[in-house]
Amino acid sequence: MAQHDEAVLPQEHRTTTVEQGRFCVARCTCGWRGPARRARSLARTDAEGHTGEG
Ligand SMILES: [Zn+2]
Repeated sequence: MAQHDEAVLPQEHRTTTVEQGRFCVARCTCGWRGPARRARSLARTDAEGHTGEG
């Protein structure tokens, strides 16, 4: 199943969604940050668009 990598490469994009008040923002380990969304699903869509997955 999922592998646990010991080291995270700088080029690797690991996205997460962070709630900021009423909004949800997608963030990435590379420093990228998506726009504030009212729905987490939209923030996730932003993250997927950033990583090119989905
Ligand atoms: Zn990234």
